[in-house]
Amino acid sequence: MTHTKGPWTYDRTTNRIGTTAGTICIIDEPADQSGRGIVHDQQTANARLIHKAPEMYEVLSMYQMLNTECHRGVTHCGECASCKGAALLAQIEGETDEDHS
Ligand SMILES: [Zn+2]
Repeated sequence: MTHTKGPWTYDRTTNRIGTTAGTICIIDEPADQSGRGIVHDQQTANARLIHKAPEMYEVLSMYQMLNTECHRGVTHCGECASCKGAALLAQIEGETDEDHS
């Protein structure tokens, strides 16, 4: 199974991220009921990040097609952008459940 094809939309009024076909997710209301301050700004930043996930995935995939070799000249250092990008793509595509967070 693959993700819902982008682009995804973001409605700031409802904090809804989705497509014309349906909702991907709704960002919870901020704990600060006034809707202002750090919490609200952080929720908005989180929504922007999730909203752009399909485009980030596309760019990461393109980067990986261009940079298939580890820059350190070893098979897999696990630390450079190429290695980390490959590991992230594998996680996104469900090839591994390993989470390095
Ligand atoms: Zn590497």
